[in-house]
Amino acid sequence: MADGETGELGRIGLQRADLFRQQCYINGKWVGEPTVDVRNPATRGVIGRIPDLGKSETEAAVAAAAAALPKWKAEPAAARAKILRKWNELMLKHQEDLARLMTAEQGKPLAEARGEIAYAGAFFEWFGEEAKRVYGDTIPAPASDRRIMVLKQPVGVVGAITPWNFPTAMITRKVGPGIAAGCTVVLKPSELTPYSALALAVLAEEAGLPPGVLNIITGDAEPIGRVLTEDPRIAKFTFTGSTPVGKKLAAQCMGTVKRVSLELGGNAPFLVFDDADLEAAAAGAIISKFRNTGQTCVCANRIYVQDGVYDAFAKLLAEKASNLVVGDGLAGVTTQGPLINAKALEKVEAHVADALGHGAKALTGAARDSHGGTFYQPTVLRDVAPDALLTREETFGPVAGLVRFKDETQALQFANNSRAGLAAYAFTQSLARSWRVSEGLEYGMVGMNTGLISTEVSPFGGVKESGVGREGSKYGIDEYLDLKAVFVQL
Ligand code: NAP
Repeated sequence: MADGETGELGRIGLQRADLFRQQCYINGKWVGEPTVDVRNPATRGVIGRIPDLGKSETEAAVAAAAAALPKWKAEPAAARAKILRKWNELMLKHQEDLARLMTAEQGKPLAEARGEIAYAGAFFEWFGEEAKRVYGDTIPAPASDRRIMVLKQPVGVVGAITPWNFPTAMITRKVGPGIAAGCTVVLKPSELTPYSALALAVLAEEAGLPPGVLNIITGDAEPIGRVLTEDPRIAKFTFTGSTPVGKKLAAQCMGTVKRVSLELGGNAPFLVFDDADLEAAAAGAIISKFRNTGQTCVCANRIYVQDGVYDAFAKLLAEKASNLVVGDGLAGVTTQGPLINAKALEKVEAHVADALGHGAKALTGAARDSHGGTFYQPTVLRDVAPDALLTREETFGPVAGLVRFKDETQALQFANNSRAGLAAYAFTQSLARSWRVSEGLEYGMVGMNTGLISTEVSPFGGVKESGVGREGSKYGIDEYLDLKAVFVQL
């Protein structure tokens, strides 16, 4: 069904219609016939189409990125920074359009989409500045007639694959440091949310990014992914998405021994101790659990509450969750959008059914929402068994399952009993406990008395099977730089 029939594009109401692109961006040109439908998850209406490109077009994009590399990496860092800064300014200038486009294709409430655009653009500004601080080292040599230096150089052409849950920020967190370091990029966004990515390319061009430095390709993930992981011209592969797909793609990279960064799934524990500020803990749980309708990799997935405050916390959280407003993200009042697709809805239902089947009780929600489609009611379950499915797998939906614990040792045992190691949260007013628990949690990030842990200035990433490498912060650019030791004999 064309947009004219559904009016999806009209409903988005873009000020700048040219930000909506239905073609891929390769070597500075818009290419490909739009044939694959992209739907709004709130209405199921077709927003538009995108090209179904494959192996040969991905190889052409890699060739373009390889051709653009020598000139781009030779640019002074200040010149790269200037373009990145301008790109961020343009994103902020068109924040409303970009946010509306994102909400239409991804479903998140408009306020969250606006926030994501600002967060996403911040990576361009931050890494533009970091590019100027890519310092090497001099190392005291073991002999007086020798000198040793360490140079940092761009790794080369980067292949990147990103998910649908943060359609813009997951891209800028890779493209920002990559381009700042002097690399060129071939990016495959999720086919569910391509328009946010393609709009970024429009603004890149406007900011002065030369052709070939960023290439964006849409189509069947498997053949595109094969080229990005197996082509020897690609030096580095960076992926954000699910753990099983990340493992498979990382294995594919080893045939040509690429640098690999992986930002994979989480299964975040959220600990509420007897000495916590309960109001702050419940507010933190709402942010961490229900943001993006529970579809973030750092979402609280298992909420462990100590005996003494269990009932009070459960009541408070259920009250707050039942005040969330479900609906189309483009409607201003909405705080909970739809789930991305039917598969996501089925997973949520399976987790809730499993918990209820093993003795949990629903305090609020636990059913599809009256909006139909993939809308699900914000849900709080109490008396969830410690080994329930929702404690073992990422639910990726608006379901808060509460498990009881008796002491700090048991809380840490529950929390660390997972192969995921991305984010964890804890609420306590004891300074000593906050240190012990922060150090004891086997996670890449810990929110202590806060449900918000994402900012461009701090390293984002996980341990165990949640990933390899870090994005954001002063460390993020290192993922795109190789070290070269230079020995000089005097
Ligand atoms: P996904 O199914 O793994 O997809 C992620 C990306 O990989 C998409 O672009 C997808 O393409 C592509 N893809 C899928 N199969 C592929 C294959 N065989 N070869 C090449 N590419 C392939 O994950 P998702 O459902 O989009 O995202 C949710 C997951 O991402 C969750 O597990 C979440 O925790 C994780 N995540 C992690 C972070 C982090 O920073 N650690 C951040 C956000 C999300 P198509 O969509 O076009 O099929």
